[in-house]
Amino acid sequence: MRLSKSFVPTLKEVPTEAVIPSHILMIRAGLVRQLSAGIYSWLPIGYKIIRKIMDIIREEMNAIGGQEFHFPALNPKEIWEQTGRVEAFGDILFHIKNREYVLAPTHEEIVAYHAKGSLVSYKDLPQIWYQIQTKFRNEPRPRSGVIRGRQFLMKDAYTLDRDFAGLDVGYALHEKAYKTIFNRCGLKYFVVGASSGAMGGSKSEEFMVKSDAGEDTVAHCEKCGYAANAEVAQSVAEPAKKHTESKQPYEISTPDVKSIDELCAFLKIHEHETAKSRIYMHDGKPILVLMLGNDEVNETKLGSVLGGNVRSAHPEELKEITGADAGSIGPIDFKHRIIADNLLKDGNNLFSGANKNDYHLGGIDLKRDLPTLEYFDLRTAENGEKCIRCGSTLEVFKAIELGHIFKLGTKYSEALGVNYLDENGKEHPIVMGSYGIGVERIFACFIEQNYDSKGIVWKEPLSPFDIHLIGLNMKNSEVAKTCEKIYIDLISDGYEVLFDDRNDVSAGFKFNDADLLGMPVQVIVGEKNLKDGNVEIKNRRTGEKKVIALNSMMDQLQEPF
Ligand code: ATP
Ligand code: MG
Repeated sequence: MRLSKSFVPTLKEVPTEAVIPSHILMIRAGLVRQLSAGIYSWLPIGYKIIRKIMDIIREEMNAIGGQEFHFPALNPKEIWEQTGRVEAFGDILFHIKNREYVLAPTHEEIVAYHAKGSLVSYKDLPQIWYQIQTKFRNEPRPRSGVIRGRQFLMKDAYTLDRDFAGLDVGYALHEKAYKTIFNRCGLKYFVVGASSGAMGGSKSEEFMVKSDAGEDTVAHCEKCGYAANAEVAQSVAEPAKKHTESKQPYEISTPDVKSIDELCAFLKIHEHETAKSRIYMHDGKPILVLMLGNDEVNETKLGSVLGGNVRSAHPEELKEITGADAGSIGPIDFKHRIIADNLLKDGNNLFSGANKNDYHLGGIDLKRDLPTLEYFDLRTAENGEKCIRCGSTLEVFKAIELGHIFKLGTKYSEALGVNYLDENGKEHPIVMGSYGIGVERIFACFIEQNYDSKGIVWKEPLSPFDIHLIGLNMKNSEVAKTCEKIYIDLISDGYEVLFDDRNDVSAGFKFNDADLLGMPVQVIVGEKNLKDGNVEIKNRRTGEKKVIALNSMMDQLQEPF
């Protein structure tokens, strides 16, 4: 590809809209441009890299017996209503105005729709269906560039099996294929246990890349390898303080004391002697969730403990439910269900709100005062706590989710009536699995792991070109002629070459662009070296340079450094 005839709008300045390295460099290298918040256009070199990623994914999906489909992005809303996911996705789902259509954020429903009545016998199973296609999600805060787009490419695959044993096989195949895909793309990643979120279903694992740019939080134990999304991660943490003698509940006037920190300062007590109350609405009924000290409720855990519809109570509902505002709510005399975090088990002499503004209660003994209280793990694991498996120290950090594999089970086949007949003519729902990879996230994560102060540092097989050929002064006819020959020779030897044949930019400009674009090897042709029959080659990753004889260049390039 000749730069003189290509659209590669590189930028020297850091674009104001970008914060994270991958986003900044994608824009600066002229790979992508934003059309609107969370909506991006891929420019020619950027799209070339996207195609390389898609090729790798395709090869590995085909290798496990996947069959490639192309499902429409425009879906009748009715199918999504049948599985309850118009509601489950909520504002994330794009609706087409005046028509009963939605733009698909994923394709479980459509797969189930086509399976229905087509996969009728156990003999038709198992199947692996996949596609690489555009997905639409009205992400509330699209940031981090293409990592969280409102329109993005996903490889989504679906297994269709007669039973859970079959699902286990399909799931394991995908787990293996995913590892191969991410390894081939040259990414450092790890696998974590996760929550299935709006997808429904049971077992699920996420493929994660450690990165400050990530929006997921992961807990990881270096020692035993335990890794889980913070939404579900468990840890061993210090429980509520236990006292040998329990006092009786007593009221304390605590004017203007709203937070746990203020309460601790006011009463000169430790956080582990306090219990914080949060009110939620569970299927329309109030429920009080009691947490130790400053621990926040982990709403993913709460959701899986309670099931059904859960939301936090609005401030204006609090007074009606408890008689007090947020800072003064407590469990004693609360009229509805109460659940508590495990760390509060058997806590006594605890301080909590009195359900009366500006008052707290002391001397609470949970076993005595709330004998039917149910305990669950409801908190989020924090950095430095102990690993639930081996007791070693947990590290909690930010990560980007590259891919997610789910054992869906029969949620969608039951909702849409997707059944097959077994050997005895008995009907069963088809058992499904669902497996996603974000194509753009592979792209961005690769850059997050492979850049320096000058730009991106590509490596095979994602590198858009093998060689960046730079003609330093293309107005010099010797340089121009030599470059043309090298270009043709390299291409006929099977290299992909980006040729900087521009004759209106300076050498310095060309060097900067070459480092920014980041092809692994640069071949630099200049008057001075050429006089001695030489060219220079540069290793982009290490910066190492070598002057080599032009007539041995093709041999040298087979193993340049
Ligand atoms: P996240 O928690 O980051 O929103 P998700 O759990 O909603 O991701 P899935 O529904 O499992 O994602 O989608 C499968 C894959 O699609 C994800 O692992 C991710 O790589 C990619 N993906 C999801 N949402 C986006 C997005 N808004 N932009 C780019 N890629 C995305
Ligand atoms: Mg999401």
